[in-house]
Amino acid sequence: MTPGRESHSSAVDAVVVGAGSAGLYMSHRLRGLGLSVRVIEAGSGVGGTWYWNRYPDARCDTESMQYSYSFSPDLQQDWHWTEKFAGQPEILKYANYVADRFDLRRDITFNTFVTSAVYDEDDDQWAIRTGTGEDIRARFCIMATGCLSNARVPDFIGRDGFKGTTYHTGHWPHEGVDFSGKRVAVIGTGSSGIQCIPEIVKQAAQVYVFQRTPNYSIPARNHPMTPEHEQSWKSNYDERREMQRRSRTGNVNNLNDVSAMSVSEEDRQSQYTARWATGGTTFMASFNDLVTNKASNDTAAEFVRQRIGEIVRDPAVAARLTPRDYPIGTKRICADTHYFETFNRDNVTLIDIREDPIQEIVTSGVVAAGKTYEVDSIVFATGFDAMTGALLKVDIRGRGGESLRVKWEAGPRTYLGLATAGFPNLFIITGPGSPSVLSNMIVSIEQHVDWLTDCIGHMRARQLHVIEPVREAEDAWVEHVNKTANRTLYPSAASWYMGANIPGKPRVFMPYIGGVGRYRQECAEIAAKGYEGFRLAASSRAGAFQSED
Ligand code: NAP
Repeated sequence: MTPGRESHSSAVDAVVVGAGSAGLYMSHRLRGLGLSVRVIEAGSGVGGTWYWNRYPDARCDTESMQYSYSFSPDLQQDWHWTEKFAGQPEILKYANYVADRFDLRRDITFNTFVTSAVYDEDDDQWAIRTGTGEDIRARFCIMATGCLSNARVPDFIGRDGFKGTTYHTGHWPHEGVDFSGKRVAVIGTGSSGIQCIPEIVKQAAQVYVFQRTPNYSIPARNHPMTPEHEQSWKSNYDERREMQRRSRTGNVNNLNDVSAMSVSEEDRQSQYTARWATGGTTFMASFNDLVTNKASNDTAAEFVRQRIGEIVRDPAVAARLTPRDYPIGTKRICADTHYFETFNRDNVTLIDIREDPIQEIVTSGVVAAGKTYEVDSIVFATGFDAMTGALLKVDIRGRGGESLRVKWEAGPRTYLGLATAGFPNLFIITGPGSPSVLSNMIVSIEQHVDWLTDCIGHMRARQLHVIEPVREAEDAWVEHVNKTANRTLYPSAASWYMGANIPGKPRVFMPYIGGVGRYRQECAEIAAKGYEGFRLAASSRAGAFQSED
C-alpha cells in the first residue's frame, strides 16, 4: 500500500484532494487510523484558501482564537496569533507550521491537479488520474477541495485583449504587486474587493471601483492580540471549543438570543451601536432573527445604511454605496478596514455598473456606460464558482460511469453534504448540504473529518469496504436543506450561496442553514444508528450491492 512515488501508478487506502485546512487534518486523522494516504494538491504549498488569496490585506473575518484547529491541545496552546483577525500571511504560516509539526508533507504531492476520479465497481476502488499523468487507485476518495477555490473571471468581451496586467484576488502573485503610480480598475465589491480596495488606493495613482451590487460591511476594528484576550481563550479552550461546536455558526459570538422585534427601539439601537463599535461580522448576532424575520432584518440593515451615510462625504457616492434591495446578511456580510472611508479620497472613483454593466474590456481599459476608463491594471475581485465549482472541475464518475456533473445538473444533491448516492466511498469535506460557508470553516472541517474518521474506523472494524448513501435518504436530506433555507431570508438575494453569480448555474441554496450545533447532532445520531441512510457492505461485486442490514 505504500505509494510508489517514481512510478506513474500507485495504490493507497485513501486519496485526499487538496492540502488546505481540510486536507491537512484529514490526512493526519487517516494516518492515525493506519491508512496509507496520498494528498494531491494543485498549489506548490499547503494552506488552500490562504495559499491562493494573497491580495493586499487578505485576512480572515473570524477571530484568530476561534479560526484555528482544536484537535491538538498542545498546538492551540503553543501557537500565538498576533492579531484579533489574522492576516493571510500569518494563517499561511500556521498551515505550514501544522504541516511540519504533524509531519504531513511526506504524503503530499504538490503542483498536481486531479483531473478525474472514476469508480471501479469490480474491485471497489477509485481510479484517480492526475494532470501529471499519474494513476492512483484508492479505496476512498476524499474531496477536500474547498468551497471557494474555483476562482472566476467573468467572460467580459475583449477580456483577453487587455494590454495591461490583470489579477484575480483568488490567484494573487506570490511576489505581490506594486501598484505605485498606476491606474487600476477593481471589478467586484464582495469581501475580497472590500478588503483589497483600501490597500490598493494607498499605492495607486487612480482607482476605479466597478460595483454591481453594494454590500453591507461592518468595520472589522482589527487590532493586535492582547495578552488578556489570548490568555482568556487559552485558559478556557476546552469549554470554548465546545461552545463553538454547539453554536449556530461555529463561533462564540455572544448571540443575543432574542428577537430584534422583542425590544424597544432604544435597546435595538444600543445593541447595534455596541456591536458596530466592537467590529466584525458578529454584528449579525445582535439578535436571533436577523436572517429569518424581515422586519428585524430591516432594522439592522437600516442601521448600517445610516452609518454608510455618515462615513461617505459625497451624498451621491454614499447613495450608490448603500445596499437597499436585499436583506442584510443574505449575501455574505463583509468586514472591512476603512472601506467606506476610501471613497472620500481624491484618487478613487466609484462606477455603478448595476444599470450600465461593463460593456467590454478594450486594450487600454474598461468600457462601461459608453465611457472608457483607461487603466494599467485590472483586479478581478469577481469571486468563485462556489461550493460545486472545484468538485465539478474534476471529472468524477460513480457507479455505471454516472457523471457527477450530470447528476448535479439541477443543483448539488448530497446526504449530509458529505456523500452522494451512486458514488461509493467518495466523501466531500464541507460539501453542499452542510453548514460549511455559513460557519467557521475550521469548526465544520474538524467535525466532518472526525465524523469520517469514525466512519472509516467503523467500517474497518467490521471488514466493510463500501459505503454509499441511500437515494431516499439523500432525497430527504436535500428536501430538509431546502425547507430549512426557505424558512429564512437567504433565498431572496442573488448571492453565490444560490449560485446566482455564475450565469447558467442552477439557483439552489447550497449550504445547510440548520446551524453547526444542530447539524453536528444530526450527524452524530446518524452514526449512532449504524450510519442510518447509508448502505455499508463488504463489496459491491457480482452486481448486487448487499447491505449489511
Ligand atoms: P464575491 O463575494 O462573489 O464578490 C464578487 C464581486 O464581483 C461581487 O461584487 C459581484 O457583484 C462582482 N461581480 C461578479 N461578476 C460580475 C460581473 N460580471 N460584472 C460585474 N461585477 C461582477 O467574491 P469574493 O469577494 O471573492 O468573496 C467570496 C467569499 O469568500 C466571501 O463571500 C467570503 O465567504 C469569502 N471571503 C472571506 C473573506 C474574509 O474572511 N474576510 C475575505 C474574502 C473572501 P454581485 O454582487 O452583483 O454579484
